Amino acid sequence: MKTERQEATFIDEQRIVEVLEAGKRYSPAAIRDVVSKSLELKGLDLEELAALLWVDDPELEHEIYSAARKIKEHIYGKRLVFFAPLYVCNYCVNNCKYCGYRAANDYPRRKLTMEEISQEIKAILDMGHKRIALEAGEDPVNCPIEYITEAMRQIYATTSGNASIRRINVNIAATTVDEYKMLKDAGIGTYVLFQETYHRETYKNMHSGPKADYDWHTTAMDRAFAAGIDDVGLGVLYGLYDWRFETVALLMHAQYLDKTYGVGPHTISFPRLRAAYGISLDNFPHLVNDNDFKRIVASLRLSVPYTGMILSTREEPVFREEVIALGISQISAGSMVGVGEYSAKQQRDDHSDTPQFDVGDHRGLDEIIHDLLPDGYIPSFCTACYRTGRTGENFMALAKSAHIHEMCQPNALLTFQEYLCDYASPATRQRAIPAIEKALTEIEPEELRKECVRRLERIKTGERDLYF
Ligand code: SF4
Ligand code: SF4
Repeated sequence: MKTERQEATFIDEQRIVEVLEAGKRYSPAAIRDVVSKSLELKGLDLEELAALLWVDDPELEHEIYSAARKIKEHIYGKRLVFFAPLYVCNYCVNNCKYCGYRAANDYPRRKLTMEEISQEIKAILDMGHKRIALEAGEDPVNCPIEYITEAMRQIYATTSGNASIRRINVNIAATTVDEYKMLKDAGIGTYVLFQETYHRETYKNMHSGPKADYDWHTTAMDRAFAAGIDDVGLGVLYGLYDWRFETVALLMHAQYLDKTYGVGPHTISFPRLRAAYGISLDNFPHLVNDNDFKRIVASLRLSVPYTGMILSTREEPVFREEVIALGISQISAGSMVGVGEYSAKQQRDDHSDTPQFDVGDHRGLDEIIHDLLPDGYIPSFCTACYRTGRTGENFMALAKSAHIHEMCQPNALLTFQEYLCDYASPATRQRAIPAIEKALTEIEPEELRKECVRRLERIKTGERDLYF
């Protein structure tokens, strides 16, 4: 058993630089071989990923995008899982140069009471969500782990009508094995921690406060695994350092987890730096343009076909839809990124909290669903795996055998039907009818399809929370 404090030697910067140099030398024929290999769904190695990141021929780029779409459709079908972030506390002792919550930003801080958390959850449930990502700044005094676990219990206990939150993913600062155990006991889904940047020197420049400890932050997932949390989510904040370096480092981290713990990251997120209170983008020379961002998403889809990929509301609506097609399997929707903002909006309170960053997609959940349906997407609020013990290694084994796809599609339809019965606008309901009919025809074997039809009918007559 490793000690808690260790050096993040698995991120080998010299190796990343070498891999990037080697990737630069791939011929068009070698790139095509990489793309063909990716279609075998066994993933790519670091150098192959690096090669994809250097492609500048539009035809080859098109082939990469086309492979990303194929892989996404093969593994995930047209389902798209939805969730909402919930910010409970914006106290923070850190001074990350890119974040609106940084301690140096002088504005009144807020931490929700348990009663207020229930109000927020009711507002989120009333939109139709069933999954949340719990977010908080780092502050051991104002926001200790006991507060987070109490908040989680409060969230699971809150209901609105017949609805409740079925999965809480948690995104809080790197902590100790004991504190990860407390999150596990409180029913954490995925533990999410963005690396921000894997580049040590940039990391040092960007941070002050406890988060400035690169090794402690980068080895957080090792401690989470040691505590028994087997679903973890990685992410890079694109815009802090060179995007090719970060993307290869991300895969290096994912491969390390896979090799060490027998299970890679459950999800990867792609936040792109946004302006925020007191933060100007002019100070960041590594901002990622739209085209490069699409390349990152598509290349990772080819490299880690079975890892869920998450896109947040940082991106604008039209661009978001383009990126989703390249491999995204989960999106946030209707997001409020200030503390207490869901209930404030529901009560039409003009109070507005200082957000962590500026949101790019301001559409509500129903509007997003309405806009995505014509492209064949089936919204999913499914949380079945976590409630049937299909997590970590069990989940990956199932995912890699592709059997998971058999369950995802029917579960997407069942949870979407709940959404349609309880929350959808008439226009969305109307648009959903042909989408559901088409999605049903894609379910195999036939017995599963018939059972799915039966369960859809049961939901229409009032039953809830049916899943495979
Ligand atoms: Fe605090 Fe996190 Fe923002 Fe850094 S990124 S200032 S740790 S809330
Ligand atoms: Fe996710 Fe499992 Fe539901 Fe598929 S069946 S959407 S993998 S929870």
